[in-house]
Formats: sequence, C-alpha cells, structure tokens
Amino acid sequence: MDLLVIGWDGASYRHLKEFDLPFWDGLSHKDYLYPEGLFHDASYISSANAWTTMTTGAGFRQHKILGFVYGKYTGHPLMKGVSLMARNQAVPDFFRRVLVSEGIGRLATDTGRVDAEKSHIQSSDIPFKRIWDLLPGTAQVFGLPLTYPPWEINGSLMSGIPAPRPEEATQPLVYPPELEDVIYDGSHNGYYVDLPSPVNDSSVDESEYADAHLQKSGSLSERYKHVYNSSEENPTFGFLMLRSIDDVLHATEDKMIIEDVYDRIDKISSDLVSSIDPDDVLILSDHGMAPTSPLRVDKDLKMDHDTRQGVWGGTTDFDLSNQIDVGPSILDYFDVDTELPQERDEYELVTNELDDEAVHQRLEDLGYA
Ligand SMILES: [Zn+2]
Repeated sequence: MDLLVIGWDGASYRHLKEFDLPFWDGLSHKDYLYPEGLFHDASYISSANAWTTMTTGAGFRQHKILGFVYGKYTGHPLMKGVSLMARNQAVPDFFRRVLVSEGIGRLATDTGRVDAEKSHIQSSDIPFKRIWDLLPGTAQVFGLPLTYPPWEINGSLMSGIPAPRPEEATQPLVYPPELEDVIYDGSHNGYYVDLPSPVNDSSVDESEYADAHLQKSGSLSERYKHVYNSSEENPTFGFLMLRSIDDVLHATEDKMIIEDVYDRIDKISSDLVSSIDPDDVLILSDHGMAPTSPLRVDKDLKMDHDTRQGVWGGTTDFDLSNQIDVGPSILDYFDVDTELPQERDEYELVTNELDDEAVHQRLEDLGYA
C-alpha cells in the first residue's frame, strides 16, 4: 500500500498535545485542519459535511451536504443574511451554531430537519467522485460517512454511518457484495455498539460505553487487516474510519475515559500500520470536541464538535490547513493531474429505496436525530 488514511473522527489537537501517544507523537508532520469559512467561523460542523468536503474536493455549496439529518442544500433568499450573522464573532457561539444548524437546516435544505424521518441523505446524493475513484490503483475504503449504498469501485468499499445494520439493510453494505459475510460475520455488526449511548440513556455507564466502542473500533481494524491480507491485488490506497473519539466524547467529559479513548485509538492505529506497512500514513480529524454549551438543552451531550480543533498528522508533508485541501493533496501524492471536484457518472447517481426507518434509528443511536 502506498498511502493509508486513518480517520480519527472528532480528534482534538488540544488533546493530542496533552496526552502521551506514541504513534501520534512519532508522526513527523502535523497541523490544524479547519472546515471551510462559514463552518469554521460559525463553529458548527457535521461529520457528514466535513468528510464529504475532504473526499470530494467540493465545498458545501457544491456538494450540498449540511449534515446527516438534513436534506440537500437548496439555497434560500435569506442565506446571505444568515451566513453573515453566523460568521459574526460578536454573536455568541451558541447562536452562531444554531444559525447554521437550524437556520440553514430548516430554511435552505430540500426537506428540512422536520421531515428528516421520511428521507435520508444517501451516497448517491453526493454528485462528485470520491478521491479513490480517481486514483490509478485499487483502494480499500472502510467506514467513510455517507457511503451507503456502496457503488462499484476498483477495490472494496464498506459503508460508514448511517448505514443500517446488516439485518435491516435493503441494499448491500459492502462492495463487492461477497465481502459482506467476511466483514459482518455475526460477531460484528458494523459501527453500532449494542449498548445505548449515555447521550440517550443516562443509566448507561460512560466507561462501559467507551469500552464497547473501542472494542468495536478494534474489531473493525482487524477486519480491515483481514480483507487487506486476503485481497488478490494489493490495494495502493487505504482508508479506515475510527469513530470512537467523536461518539464517546459526546457521552463523557471524564478525563480518564477521554485519555483512555485516545490511547486505544493510537494503539489500534499503530497495530494497523505495522501490519499493513504502507509507505505513508495520513491521520485526519474532521473537528475536535469541546464541552457543550450550557444553552444546548435539546440533548444531553457532554461534549460537542469544535471547529477550531480539527487536525491532521502524517509521515510526510501533506501541506494541509483546510479540509478542502485534502483531496488535491492526495491526488498530488499519487501524481494524478486532475481538477476537483469531478462529477460522478449518471448510473452511479441512481437513488435506491432505503430503509429510512432503520437509518433514522441508527442516527438516533448516535445522538444525531
Ligand atoms: Zn465527526
């Protein structure tokens, strides 16, 4: 493998500097990684928006993905005013966030949050090729958000959140479909932890939830290795998403648990890298996590996304500062000379019948819906 990208969803630079993390500390290049202007200034970003920008090279107004629970961005006559206010640093943080999530979400998306139960964003709503669709060799991509249903790629693709559980899915969860039984072998049902998140159920112990989550990240990484080692053609590009930091920190502020989560994600990544032995590694986070505003009363979130703490780290200089730089930098790495974003082929944009109830349930489990 030439390049292995590992997503550390929700990893904060602040935490990475504070904790003793041998794998992370050994990376020679690192810096902050920010979402594009509006989201950075408004201090609101969804993983759906951020990872779509990073892997397509398209900005929000092009790819139109605001978040998991909204329809596609349609624009609205009031958008200019809303954006100006959301970027105005004199407006308190919490209100700037709400201007984006509720303001843009309700006003300027095609269903608005209100109808989110009826239809969900799916992979084919993103009109652009993902970075690996443009690379010369084969790819192995596991767990990127909004890749359900998967499409035909040169290599293998396992859908990320909010893909349903195998028993609920109306579409294959993996491309090629015959890999599904290898990845979902009964003891593993994807990203979802059986224990409800303490965000939704305060009787669940925070450290037990963290432990269940990290076991999940570990078993996913094991499956990644297994598929890699049994592939006929050695994938040249790899991507694995580890979600634990984002999901667990939504549910806890406990310093010991937080340090343990970072510790174990660092260890899982280190083991994966030693086993796959890629030429280079790139760690990406879509945003950091910070204590939730006391004004946020709709959910019992202990910590919430922090747009100023996203980070990247690599074994070589990927020269990143903004999420929109990620795609071009990876193309450069592979010496691919092409402009981003690139539209997808018509046949890949067919909308499938999704089991919306199942997808909604999974979003609820994650504390989104
Ligand atoms: Zn995230």
